[in-house]
Amino acid sequence: MNKTITKIRWENGGCLPTPLASIWILGKCNLGCKHCYEGRSKAQKQVLPKERVKLIMNKLAPFVNSFSFMGGEPTLHPDLPELCDYAQQLGKYTLLVSNGVAVDKSMVKSLRDKVDCVKLGMDGTTDNYHDMVRGKGAFAKTLRAWEAMTPHISTMCKFTLNAQNIENLPQIADFYQQLGAKRLILNGWLKVGRGANIWNKHFALSSRQRQTINEYVTRELKPRYNVFPISRSCSLDNGCKVMPARTFYVDSRGAVSPCIFSAGLGVGNILSPDTNVETLLMQVNKIRQAHNNLHEPHKQVQKKHEMVVMKPTTFMPELAMQACRH
Ligand code: SF4
Repeated sequence: MNKTITKIRWENGGCLPTPLASIWILGKCNLGCKHCYEGRSKAQKQVLPKERVKLIMNKLAPFVNSFSFMGGEPTLHPDLPELCDYAQQLGKYTLLVSNGVAVDKSMVKSLRDKVDCVKLGMDGTTDNYHDMVRGKGAFAKTLRAWEAMTPHISTMCKFTLNAQNIENLPQIADFYQQLGAKRLILNGWLKVGRGANIWNKHFALSSRQRQTINEYVTRELKPRYNVFPISRSCSLDNGCKVMPARTFYVDSRGAVSPCIFSAGLGVGNILSPDTNVETLLMQVNKIRQAHNNLHEPHKQVQKKHEMVVMKPTTFMPELAMQACRH
């Protein structure tokens, strides 16, 4: 793989080369977003030891080109620079999925040569939209992260639309392009995790609102794709369209699933000594191809596909399965 060529492609708004494995590295977070998959239990404050993360990376290395570190908030992992360094030693690209709150100039300095891209989660172009979901003061802190990062690290914006911030839609692309984002990913509020809580009902998008968003994207944003690339996540795009992307999600215990939305399918555990990693990843891809919508309850998905679903071996029973949407 020619890293230089791919990096130039990224600067132009391309994506990191797949296959890409997203690895959950901790449950700790400095925010308490209303749409987070994480709960608030003690277990979810856990940090995956660096040795375990490296073991997962070693197992995946022959089969993937990029690693994404996620949580929780990955910048709170005490060994993040070392983990990014290790990914580089393995010849892989690295992506961080972050809320940006803890990112300052010194962190950027420690990561800039080790990280290929950071995906920052946003919920507005002003503090009233963003902080409504992420908490008071979050917007201002994340703006500082944009300023610190964009001169040194490719940064993209993952914006989660909800029923309250949909009126912000016309401002999003210009605002984040001017902040230096290389790409805009539009995400839709999902009724999962905390986002499914009864008091969050008024954030969920109606089908009419989803249609409005999709029409706006087609009319206003797609024509400027060459200047400012945009993608929609499956939560807006009517099901999973990432089949060829070959992405994998590895949770705290080593259980592998097609993506973060399907964490908990329990196809197999990469840390089990008897697991053939290549076969496991092929199984995960089969599931992805068989199901266009992995948001549906896991039991339904398991029932639909005809494969035997292995129970993941529990390596860290104290940790619940974790996922973050940033
Ligand atoms: S969505 Fe991400 S930033 Fe927000 S609370 Fe969850 S882990 Fe933290």
